[in-house]
Amino acid sequence: MKEALLIIDMLNDFVRAGAPLEVPATRAILPALQQRLEQARARGVPVIYVCDAHAADDPEFARMGWPPHAVKGTPGAEVVAELTPLETDPVVEKTAYSGFHHTGLEGILQSLGITNLVLTGCVTNICILYTAYDAVIRGYTVTVPADSVAPIEPADGEFALKQMTLVLGVRVER
Ligand code: ZN
Repeated sequence: MKEALLIIDMLNDFVRAGAPLEVPATRAILPALQQRLEQARARGVPVIYVCDAHAADDPEFARMGWPPHAVKGTPGAEVVAELTPLETDPVVEKTAYSGFHHTGLEGILQSLGITNLVLTGCVTNICILYTAYDAVIRGYTVTVPADSVAPIEPADGEFALKQMTLVLGVRVER
């Protein structure tokens, strides 16, 4: 059983105060997530960043009703300074909620022999939930530490954690 730490959408456009798609709870999870990141690096656990990278006119904005955010190549699409990737860390760009949809994530996981994913970042009931589903149906074991994922609305986050536990068999760490 080999683990990887996935850090999902901890980008300036979600985390910074006043950002276009600000998720204030992301700032509350930063200390726990930084600690988790340091521990992973110390233990030699692979760290993989999964990041929104939209075209300026991405259909997601109109279809899903989100304000434009994380446009590829802009500072808003960069990982926050507190969690900066190392040169050697894979950074997977995505344009949908799931980190597996039309990305190289699965190939990276296979090449590293990963069987267990620890999902962290935002948003608990959106990209974490849908990535968890896609991971589980591909046979990965999934763990979600509750102190390292951020919802927009707390009740939605709780729903997602419950859904992951009861319907997907995800291990939610409290
Ligand atoms: Zn997006």
